[in-house]
Amino acid sequence: MITIAIANQKGGVGKTTTAINIATAMAATGWKTLLIDLDPQGNASTGLGIEAAARENTSYDLLLEQATLPECVLPTDIPGLDIVPATQDLSGAEVELVSVEDRTGRLTQALAQHAHAYEVCFIDCPPSLGLLTLNALCAADTLLVPLQCEFFALEGLSQLLQTVERIQQGFNPDLGIVGVVLTMFDRRNRLTDQVADDVRDCLGGLVFENVIPRNVRLSEAPSHGMPALVYDHQCPGSRAYIGLARELIGRLPETRKAA
Ligand code: ADP
Ligand code: MG
Repeated sequence: MITIAIANQKGGVGKTTTAINIATAMAATGWKTLLIDLDPQGNASTGLGIEAAARENTSYDLLLEQATLPECVLPTDIPGLDIVPATQDLSGAEVELVSVEDRTGRLTQALAQHAHAYEVCFIDCPPSLGLLTLNALCAADTLLVPLQCEFFALEGLSQLLQTVERIQQGFNPDLGIVGVVLTMFDRRNRLTDQVADDVRDCLGGLVFENVIPRNVRLSEAPSHGMPALVYDHQCPGSRAYIGLARELIGRLPETRKAA
């Protein structure tokens, strides 16, 4: 199993939208896929149609060792895509984890014994660099960073990259960055274009060719409890995520590509 953390400490940059749709695209391509909702807001869970009442064991229980991965996993309506849902409880974990042993390694431990059940695991991170995100970065093989083309986007990114370096030095030397995806891209907006150019100048090939356009269908889909790829698979946003999934698969290590 390859584990991909979708992280950026800024809120509202498209992490959850990316997590839901890229996980769906990978599952549709035949990869046995797991999505771990690691944001107390539970938007990935809601967006995949998991009712609050159905979230019996959650990522909170997983982190606090109150349940095992198989006990936390729920199927989704998408064949080949399972989810570990999240609820508000998870916001408490940020504090409760402070005093436990190996507080950044809890997710790694929880996934270790069950890695064989899935080919790819995405982790939808919360908008912070707290213990939840640190657990995700320790458990991950690689990082996928959604970046909204706005002023200060690069400043936020450098803070994230510093954190990644710290994790590499301390806990997870093999942590990679599979790529940066530009989200909510609006070609008519000159600032967007300019920031995109700056980001490509700065990061080069790390930036995915596929950009995700600003597309209202992507923001409508979650209120119907389904990925945009199911809600309207032909909309520009869905097509962009299919392209991104293809590009992502091309960047994964050869040994893990077969599916
Ligand atoms: P994050 O998880 O980083 O906080 P979200 O994925 O929840 O970000 O996106 C924030 C908001 O923007 C949500 O309302 C979402 O539906 C909307 N959104 C995300 N990506 C797009 C897009 N490409 N086009 C239009 N709306 C989008
Ligand atoms: Mg989110």
